[in-house]
Amino acid sequence: MAKKVGITGGIGSGKTTVCKIFEFLGVPIFYSDEVAKNILVTNQNVIRQIQEVFGEEAYNLDSTYNKQFVASKIFNDKSLLLKLNSIIHPIVIEENFLWNDKYKDSPYIINESALIFESNKYKLFDKIIVVYCPEYIKIDRVMKRDNLNKDQVQERIKNQLADIEKIRLSDMVIINNNEISLLSQIHYIHNKLTN
Ligand code: ATP
Repeated sequence: MAKKVGITGGIGSGKTTVCKIFEFLGVPIFYSDEVAKNILVTNQNVIRQIQEVFGEEAYNLDSTYNKQFVASKIFNDKSLLLKLNSIIHPIVIEENFLWNDKYKDSPYIINESALIFESNKYKLFDKIIVVYCPEYIKIDRVMKRDNLNKDQVQERIKNQLADIEKIRLSDMVIINNNEISLLSQIHYIHNKLTN
């Protein structure tokens, strides 16, 4: 049975960047956040439940998801975030179980997810890796990537579990700070997990 490895980290820490390198080494990766985004627009049952909670406006006329509208509702009522997660997460986990089965003969498989600890998913993994990036670099990268200002990025960081807690709860840390080689850290972990 393949070892199940979770990769997490704060917004803009470099999870996806790190996972792309593992993928290059041949490791199967389940990108939870991508799967969740896909479910939002393809699973009719999910779409119906989201419209029941947030209203028809949760989807645009062209059937795309109206993230801004949903985010503004959540901004005014934080309990709606729990509701949204309780609609999407069980389906992502279900898809993940089916996916895991396809790769059961690999030495290990990776699940990339921003919310491994926040969503209690950590129990599903044999090992958890956290990607750590100092806040000033994260802010800079996310401002550029998502075209946000510093306050908006800081607001998002504030809504996530603190890095120090994520490190405390993880088995391994990858430091993505432009100083320590990402490649050598990933090679080291890859060797540990394949041997
Ligand atoms: P999110 O959870 O917000 O989706 P993430 O943790 O997956 O973010 P990435 O998307 O991998 O983070 O990285 C955030 C941004 O920083 C991206 O634009 C990425 O290209 C850039 N980045 C990440 N790591 C590095 C690095 N080592 N060198 C240069 N740019 C990097």
